[in-house]
Amino acid sequence: MSIAINKGLCVGCGKCQKVCPGNLIKSDEKKKAYIKFPKSCWGCASCVKECKVDAIKFYLGADMGGLGSTLSIKGEGDITHWIIKKDKEEIVIDVNKKNANAY
Ligand code: SF4
Ligand code: SF4
Repeated sequence: MSIAINKGLCVGCGKCQKVCPGNLIKSDEKKKAYIKFPKSCWGCASCVKECKVDAIKFYLGADMGGLGSTLSIKGEGDITHWIIKKDKEEIVIDVNKKNANAY
């Protein structure tokens, strides 16, 4: 698993850098984020959850979603949408944060 950051979409808020437990994300001279150590990413998805402009693509890997599959996360009130995409296929898993301990 690893991530890729689209600098064209990044607004330089810095939130992904703050939450990365491995301090793997840095910012360039224009404050645009990039991952400096992609091989060290262990796929915690914290950065993806923080990015409100969908600039971070999270690659699931062949053993999870299939080769080329990606995960993105969108928040809507108490609901978090976990969106898995592969080619033209899309699966959405909705999790209510208020019921998160129910599972
Ligand atoms: S959270 Fe998103 S918008 Fe903010 S710095 Fe990171 S990639 Fe850029
Ligand atoms: S998925 Fe986790 S470990 Fe990987 S870059 Fe994002 S915050 Fe860091």
